[in-house]
Amino acid sequence: SAEHPPQAPRISVVGTGYLGATHAAAMAEMGFEVIGVDNDPAKAQALSEGRVPFFEPGLPELIRKHVKSGRLRFTTDIAEATAFSDVHFICVGTPQQRGSNAANLSYVEEATMQVVRNLTHDGLIVGKSTVPVGTGMRLRSIVAENVPAGIDAELIWNPEFLREGKAVDDTLTPDRIVVGGTSARSEALMREVYAKPIATGTPVIVCDLPTAELVKVSANAFLATKISFINAIAEVCEAAGADVTVLADALGHDVRIGRQFLNAGLGFGGGCLPKDIRALIYRSSELGATKAASLLQQVDEINMSQRQRVIDMAIEACGGSVLNRRIGVLGAAFKPLTDDVRDSPALNVAAALHLRGAQVVIYDPEANETAQRMFPTLTYAESVEEAATGADALLVLTEWKEFSAAKPEEIRSLVARPVVIDARNCLDAAAWRAAGWWFTGLGASPAP
Ligand code: NAD
Repeated sequence: SAEHPPQAPRISVVGTGYLGATHAAAMAEMGFEVIGVDNDPAKAQALSEGRVPFFEPGLPELIRKHVKSGRLRFTTDIAEATAFSDVHFICVGTPQQRGSNAANLSYVEEATMQVVRNLTHDGLIVGKSTVPVGTGMRLRSIVAENVPAGIDAELIWNPEFLREGKAVDDTLTPDRIVVGGTSARSEALMREVYAKPIATGTPVIVCDLPTAELVKVSANAFLATKISFINAIAEVCEAAGADVTVLADALGHDVRIGRQFLNAGLGFGGGCLPKDIRALIYRSSELGATKAASLLQQVDEINMSQRQRVIDMAIEACGGSVLNRRIGVLGAAFKPLTDDVRDSPALNVAAALHLRGAQVVIYDPEANETAQRMFPTLTYAESVEEAATGADALLVLTEWKEFSAAKPEEIRSLVARPVVIDARNCLDAAAWRAAGWWFTGLGASPAP
């Protein structure tokens, strides 16, 4: 391409889920020729046709742009990818193991092995998945044991910090680039691959392999701690008659603290934070580093207790039992701007109320379909109005803008009882009370 000399490195991205599909599209946007590999044929096929099998703003446009430009294609064939490219990003999942806090590393191990065994020329393998510290070192022995004779393969780590919902921007203009375990040659190659963001000022942190792995999980652990911290303070606020939202705004003006991740409420979920802190609890215990383990154990417990708290509030709001009560649930995604329902607090609460005999009707602007796949027995509505109609209580469990923009007077005319629980502190409490609602948030003083 015009932006790169003809010998520009060609790139493969192994695993094209939320992380990999975004990374592949961003690399094409930066001017490289990219091939994405996924062992799920339906996913590879959909992406090849420019369809993204999940909701991520801006991503379908970017993928279509570069499938069309010819710089981006997708396959299920790892050998095709290794023959084509020089830099291989490993972007497969590292979910929580069943019945343990530990991360399941089988996908990362398998993908690395497949890349290495299929190398036809020298290659750089770049781990991007979030892994427990020490994984890279283990993978290096897998590389050494499987690399074909006469071929040189190096493995480094380059963790990813993108946020779902803002994944495209985060990938094109990251806050920082961390590369761990590099040689002079692979560091130069990484600087070439990330030349565009580096040129616009993105800092590069070059470090050893374990530091690179640990930066990522520490970032997530810190964010999780911030959320559980404010939820702990919210409990004090409630007991003392203070308002946690005003408090968080005041705290947030201190640049050492910052306002983000200080929203009290139902707590964090999703495919990353919960499993990443649990993997860190497990790994730090394994290493005998008990302080991190006990701190994060508390963070996890506080977070999970928020879900129970909201379930209890709903039961109380329905007079002690939700049996045969109709409950309108606004939100299913674990946060706004995504359709991801992995470990979603909203769906957890909805399912728990359903188990207690409530008729739960859920509406989410993007996640109805993914939620329905996980909980087919719950009822799904097409709008806020439909979810609210006939409700004995209305629960706001994900802070979509559409919900905070809803008109309390209009919704009031649809429900059976004007009871609303704002588990994300995202509604204008005064406006809802003025419209005749019995309103409760989390960590706020009771109605005046
Ligand atoms: P995901 O489940 O959406 O995607 C993983 C993909 O890998 C799937 O499409 C799966 O089919 C594919 N796959 C598995 N084994 C494969 C193999 N051997 N060959 C080819 N493809 C294979 O997961 P995700 O959310 O994209 O997360 C991937 C990693 O990135 C995880 O370690 C996660 O912690 C990390 N991460 C995720 C985010 C995020 O916001 N989702 C952000 C930063 C880091």
